Amino acid sequence: MNKTFCEICRKDVDFKVEIEIIKSKVKGKEYEYCGLKGVCWECGSEVYIQELEDENLRIFNRLIGRLENDY
Ligand SMILES: [Zn+2]
Repeated sequence: MNKTFCEICRKDVDFKVEIEIIKSKVKGKEYEYCGLKGVCWECGSEVYIQELEDENLRIFNRLIGRLENDY
């Protein structure tokens, strides 16, 4: 798996992927869904993974039933 930069460790680290409940607000309505997040193997803090952000966006768009034809 690719490494990613951890801001706490100040270096590139291995990360694991965990499931996270994400809350998003759209037009004043709040949605909850199971998304993904990256966690630093070394210090356990959340790290930013572009691929997971993209995947979360796909999950969320599917959930609210729009942008379905936008692939
Ligand atoms: Zn770390």
